[in-house]
Amino acid sequence: MNAHPKWSPAGTRSAAEIAAIMDFRAKRAIDHVTALAWGKTPRLCPICGYRGMFSPVRHKPEIWCPSCDSRPRHRQLKLWMDREMVLPEGAKVLHFAAEPWVRGWFEERGADYVTADLNDKFELQLDIEAMDLPDASYDLVMANHVLEHVDDARALAEMFRILKPGGQAVITVPMIEGWDVTHEDPTLKTEEELRLHYGDPTHLRFYGRDVRDRIRAPGFELHEFVAVEPDVSTHALHRGERIFVGMKPGPKGADNG
Ligand SMILES: [Zn+2]
Repeated sequence: MNAHPKWSPAGTRSAAEIAAIMDFRAKRAIDHVTALAWGKTPRLCPICGYRGMFSPVRHKPEIWCPSCDSRPRHRQLKLWMDREMVLPEGAKVLHFAAEPWVRGWFEERGADYVTADLNDKFELQLDIEAMDLPDASYDLVMANHVLEHVDDARALAEMFRILKPGGQAVITVPMIEGWDVTHEDPTLKTEEELRLHYGDPTHLRFYGRDVRDRIRAPGFELHEFVAVEPDVSTHALHRGERIFVGMKPGPKGADNG
């Protein structure tokens, strides 16, 4: 059966007609989900080089690279690093909650790369809100989807402090560009409330476009990299997703000997 069954003249259907149309519509729904599950258009992963269909994640189609497990924000980060990141020679790099592929990228470019987080799966056990590190000791600090879990004013001040003049803080967060102000309500406490308001029970806020003011607050100059076409369709990125780069003012590379 290919065509949609016709309406009956009376505007109602018999039990047999209802059974037939339920069968028709169920098959059409399954075809739709099957197409969604297998992907519709081949994409290119800039991290691992895979070209082909991307996997869905729950209801969202064409999100996951089936070769290296990358998601859109990881692929966007790789594009920015390849195209725009300025890395001083022998740069000291500190990466919070590190994505595994990032190490190879930095080490191939001669960086002194170290991972950090509170737990012992990473090389340095550091609290991003109070880092046990000297002032002006790193050229680059990266924290993707970290700030929404912590006291971001303290974390940003610490990132600023440990960077050398000219150093960069690379930051991504979940944000809604259409919101003037970050949604942050300290009276929300239960897992259900946090999930409902922030999309994740471990998040403390959902950023609006004032995230820029928060990043600038300790003294950073702000740069941005936004996902636009043709990258969005080629690499299966999220339209309009942003990478923020806070630059600590000072001569670039002045302190890198
Ligand atoms: Zn990949």
